[in-house]
Amino acid sequence: MSKAFQSIKGMNDILPQDSPAWHYLETCLRQLTASYGYSEIRMPIVENTQLFCRSIGEVTDIVEKEMYTFVDKGEDSLTLRPEGTASCVRAGIQHGLLYNQQQRLWYMGPMFRRERPQKGRYRQFYQFGLETFGFKGPDIDVEVIALSARLWKMIGLENVELQINSLGSNQAREAYKEKLVEYLQDNFDSLDADSQRRLNSNPLRVLDTKNPAMKAVVDAAPKLMEHLDDESAEHFELLKRKLDALGIAYVINPNLVRGLDYYNRSVFEWVTTELGAQGTICAGGRYDGLVEQLGGQATFGCGFAMGLERIILLLQQQPQFSNKLSSKCDVYLCTLGEQAEFAGLTLAESLREQLPSLKLQLHSGGGNFKKQLKKADKSGAVIALILGDDELHEKQVSVKHLREKRPQENVSFSQLSTEIERLLA
Ligand code: ATP
Ligand code: MG
Repeated sequence: MSKAFQSIKGMNDILPQDSPAWHYLETCLRQLTASYGYSEIRMPIVENTQLFCRSIGEVTDIVEKEMYTFVDKGEDSLTLRPEGTASCVRAGIQHGLLYNQQQRLWYMGPMFRRERPQKGRYRQFYQFGLETFGFKGPDIDVEVIALSARLWKMIGLENVELQINSLGSNQAREAYKEKLVEYLQDNFDSLDADSQRRLNSNPLRVLDTKNPAMKAVVDAAPKLMEHLDDESAEHFELLKRKLDALGIAYVINPNLVRGLDYYNRSVFEWVTTELGAQGTICAGGRYDGLVEQLGGQATFGCGFAMGLERIILLLQQQPQFSNKLSSKCDVYLCTLGEQAEFAGLTLAESLREQLPSLKLQLHSGGGNFKKQLKKADKSGAVIALILGDDELHEKQVSVKHLREKRPQENVSFSQLSTEIERLLA
């Protein structure tokens, strides 16, 4: 026997026992986005490599080392998308959705990054993302934050903290960078190797270090927040006041800079302490320069992306969660005898037609009564319907209760759908 294939490292199968949780989360997200007036957009999984280099930034972890890039038949360099914002902006420009318009969009799907796999960090992972275009003021920042806060409420997630910061305008940030570089150079010996390398290429990322040994030097660094341009400072004040008005709690994290280059002004992350190092479940902010940078007319932008695996992990940690969901069927139909087998086939179809939300499994593969009942029990069904040649002759089925002690009863074909509805209610 040859060795069985395995999935690619960091790329996971979502197994049947987990898909109800995914469906639940996806349904909540669809309902929620509709309730805020957002529309879905679906982009291809593969894009031109340059799209990501020009938007995310050449000197970022993603572009430097995490992208799955290949040359297509010796011609174009293509990349499996590591995130959705760049593709969404590309699609918006290409189809004329952005210029002089306002858009509220969402997408959901797999992203690819070649990272070291661990709990909550994979090489293929799913994001739900939301992008808005054409809104200048902080009201839209507040809206996307409020929408995410409502999701946590909807699915019962507690212990998530909202962190916010402002990166200011590009100009103010450039001026600040000079001060920061000066400070970091003065403290060069206290920096770890990664930060020494980033000092010149992407100094803001030094603030984002996860190395505890760097905490003191980072804490003492000049603060971007103190170097904001007036307009950005005002924008940030208004953002905070509106969050206060909604009763959405936040902490200001002056070292929150985000790993992608396109952000400006407001940035935010929702962080939990319950997933170890992979604590960020949602991250986003404004990217007012990105549309122009990718060849469109200057358009305001603001959005976020959530890592769905991390949210599923949190959901599955909730004790009450497992009973809430199941992919089990409601009814299992057993047939005994050749005539009943044929009749069962049409009976099952007719029940599915009459009760579209009924989950009914029809026994397949024959076998004696005992064997069929065992399968019925395993299916999770609440009732088994038994159709033998005798029942068929009487145009009825026998209903057996699988989860409670109740006598078996006979129900006529004509009453069956009504009776099933009553029994399952
Ligand atoms: P992290 O700091 O955890 O690497 P990031 O800043 O690289 O996150 P973003 O690019 O902002 O992440 O993506 C938004 C969200 O997508 C993250 O907050 C996280 O929930 C999720 N995410 C990012 N990378 C992964 C991954 N490799 N596996 C699973 N989820 C991920
Ligand atoms: Mg990352």
